[in-house]
Amino acid sequence: MALTQLAHQIINEHFEHLPKQLAVDATVGNGHDCEFLLRQKFKRVVGFDIQQKAINATRHRLKLARLVDVELIEDGHENMHSYINGLIDCCMFNFGYLPKADKQITTQTKTSLIAIDAAVKLLNTNGLISLMCYPGHDQGAIETQAIQHALDGLDNSFMVKEYLDNNPSPTTPILYTVARG
Ligand code: SAH
Repeated sequence: MALTQLAHQIINEHFEHLPKQLAVDATVGNGHDCEFLLRQKFKRVVGFDIQQKAINATRHRLKLARLVDVELIEDGHENMHSYINGLIDCCMFNFGYLPKADKQITTQTKTSLIAIDAAVKLLNTNGLISLMCYPGHDQGAIETQAIQHALDGLDNSFMVKEYLDNNPSPTTPILYTVARG
């Protein structure tokens, strides 16, 4: 199973008996995670992306799926605290660049760390964050290492898990989850 699918399975199981109020898709890209979060029936779903192209692609995907009740924000996830009042139950990150688009427009270590810090601070009790990391390109390798370091530094009220590809190598994707006890 692809790690992006595994993230969906983990979230699905985690929230089976928990309230699903607010979910954030921090990197909407083509909208797969946004669609998933809406199908999970979170009451409020907020998505962020800095590319209008991604926002449009996601809006289109959700419209076709008749999932209209979503807030899509064309701004960086590092500013999420300005848009979100209240606590986040679930936050999904899918770092890197938009597939089949400009590979130069990729998530940046500095803003990714700010966003992770914001999501951690806004995370509800029993909340869950998923982070899909791609160390297979230069910027992604630096970013993944910085994210690992940041997650290692979380206090022990957070449980961090790491999931690797079936055939892991230093360049294959890594999925992290952070749960707040
Ligand atoms: N690499 C993944 C897809 C990641 S898409 C895959 O292969 O499936 C990552 C998205 O993050 C892109 O659409 C990009 O525009 C967006 N992004 C980049 N920087 C961002 C930021 N600061 N805030 C929100 N989204 C950002």
